[in-house]
Amino acid sequence: MIDSLPPLREVIATHGLSARKSLGQNFLLDLNLTAKIARQAGDLSGADVLEIGPGPGGLTRGLLAEGARRVLAVEKDPRCLAALREIAEAYPGRLEVINADALDLNVADHLTAPIKVVANLPYNVGTELLVRWLTPDSWPPFWDSLTLMFQKEVAQRIVAQPGSKAYGRLAVLAQWRAEAQIVMTLPPDAFTPPPKVHSSVVHLKQRAEPLFPADPVLLGRLVAAAFNRRRKMLRAALKGFAPGIEDHLIAAGIAPTERAEQLSIEEFCALARQIAGTS
Ligand code: SAM
Repeated sequence: MIDSLPPLREVIATHGLSARKSLGQNFLLDLNLTAKIARQAGDLSGADVLEIGPGPGGLTRGLLAEGARRVLAVEKDPRCLAALREIAEAYPGRLEVINADALDLNVADHLTAPIKVVANLPYNVGTELLVRWLTPDSWPPFWDSLTLMFQKEVAQRIVAQPGSKAYGRLAVLAQWRAEAQIVMTLPPDAFTPPPKVHSSVVHLKQRAEPLFPADPVLLGRLVAAAFNRRRKMLRAALKGFAPGIEDHLIAAGIAPTERAEQLSIEEFCALARQIAGTS
């Protein structure tokens, strides 16, 4: 056992935490597995950890047992609070719980650097938060690394390389600003209740500087426009994006007949700089 608290099945029974689909509740009950996920975030001893969606606290206990300096856990479901309070009592001064919707909260104020984010979240909320964490008003962001569970297909989109079907906006955005890799894949029966699909943990480490220079807003719009019509050649897909797009493509060293999914992040950045006139 990783701690002296009751097994998670007992916690769930004691506190009546039947899983709610509306909150995307698929719980991890194996504490050896949650400790293993916690280890994917690296050395936690000198870091504050932000956990979104602790639920009954399996991953929270993994993070604390693995030595996190402090964990701030944000949970929307008030039914989980009593169970989380028991964990806080077992680890005095190291766990703070906020009952809130993570999408409504600015958590950076509650944490001290270095900050690692770790979460097993409903997939739609996870993707939304990932995009927000990758697109702050200024860089570097409040976090050092993100260790997040996603539906396996979404994880593959985050780490995808040019030329593959999964390569798109999420890959460009994530890899431009972070080193991203899949570090674990779990079958449905690792969760209670089991979801329909496999899940993967993605670890993203912040790049101090984005991979290549480009204006983030322009790059974001350019990548969105290019992939919105991913089957078209770029000269057609980007026709309405900027006047003289064919010339810009050529000046950036890109054949106008290429398609978005063939373009590397370096080429997207070169094209964004060319359009902005800063190349
Ligand atoms: N971390 C726990 C585990 O691994 O067993 C629970 C994971 S479960 C997939 C997702 C958790 O996120 C649930 O506890 C759910 O109540 C919570 N949640 C869902 N939407 C949320 C939101 N918008 N903000 C905060 N927590 C949320």
